[in-house]
Amino acid sequence: MNSSHPPRAGAGFTAPAKKQLGQHFLADTHYVEKIVMAVNPKDGDCLVEIGPGQGAITFPLLRRHPKLTVIEFDRDLIAPLTEAAAPLGELTIVHRDVLQVDFTALAAGGKIRLVGNLPYNISSPILFHALEHAAAISDMTFMLQKEVVDRMAAGPGSKVYGRLSVMLQAWCEVTSLFVVPPGAFRPPPKVDSAVARLVPRDPATIGIDDPKRFAEVVKAAFGQRRKTLRNALNGVIDEAGFAAAGVRSDARAEQLEVADFIRLANVPHA
Ligand code: SAM
Repeated sequence: MNSSHPPRAGAGFTAPAKKQLGQHFLADTHYVEKIVMAVNPKDGDCLVEIGPGQGAITFPLLRRHPKLTVIEFDRDLIAPLTEAAAPLGELTIVHRDVLQVDFTALAAGGKIRLVGNLPYNISSPILFHALEHAAAISDMTFMLQKEVVDRMAAGPGSKVYGRLSVMLQAWCEVTSLFVVPPGAFRPPPKVDSAVARLVPRDPATIGIDDPKRFAEVVKAAFGQRRKTLRNALNGVIDEAGFAAAGVRSDARAEQLEVADFIRLANVPHA
C-alpha cells in the first residue's frame, strides 16, 4: 500500500477536527481493518465504542455487528453519525463525556466490550475510569499514544515500567498489538500510536484486599523511583511490613513484580 495516499476511512461526512477534543480521525482503512479484526465481534457481544468521531471504526464495526453503542461528546457529530448509521444497523448514541458514563449500568447485568481510538488528552483518566467498572467489561481494544501503550504493557526492569503499568496489570492482562503511524490520521498527531488489548482478570484471582491502599503504595513507590523502597515508602510500609511481604526494602520500585506490590499493600498497617 502507498502509505502517503491511504484509502480514506470514515462515514462519508467530514467535520473540522477539534483539538480540544483530541480529534485525530483514523483515515487509513488498513488500520481500521486491523482494529476491527482485533475486536473480532461475535454474536451477542455488547459492543461500546468510545469517541466514534466521523465513524472510521464505527461503520465497519456496524457492518459486521448489527448493534453498537457509541459515546461521543461532540454534539456536531451526533446528527451526521445518526444519519450515516441508519442503513447499516442499530446505533445507539450516548451524547456524554465518557468519564461520566456508568459502564456498569450500560452493561445491564452482563458485560460490555469497549473499543476506541481514544482522545489522547484524557486517555489515562479513561483507563482508570474503566478499571472502576472492570467487573462489567469483558475486554477493551484501545488506540492510544504508543508511549502510553509501552508504559501500560511494560514489565519490571524496563525504563518505562511504572505506576500505570502496575495499576493496569493488577486488574487486567495488557497486550500491545500493533503500531499506527501519524500518517494514518487526519490531522496527523505528532507521535506514533499503538493499539492495545486489556482483558480484566477474574476479581477472585487478583487478591488485592484494599484497592485504595494498593493505589497509595504503588503511587508512593514510583513517586521516587530512583530511591530504595525503604526510603520511597517511608511512613507507608515499615521494615516489619517488608519482611511480612517478602520484599527487600533495598530494592527499587522498578524491580518489583505486580504480585510484590499486592503483597506489600496487603500487609496490615496502622
Ligand atoms: N473513532 C474516531 C476515529 O478513529 O477516527 C475518532 C477518534 S478521535 C481520536 C477521539 C474521539 O473522542 C473524537 O470523536 C472526540 O470528539 C471524542 N471525545 C473526546 N473527548 C471525549 C469525551 N470526554 N467523551 C466522549 N467522547 C470524547
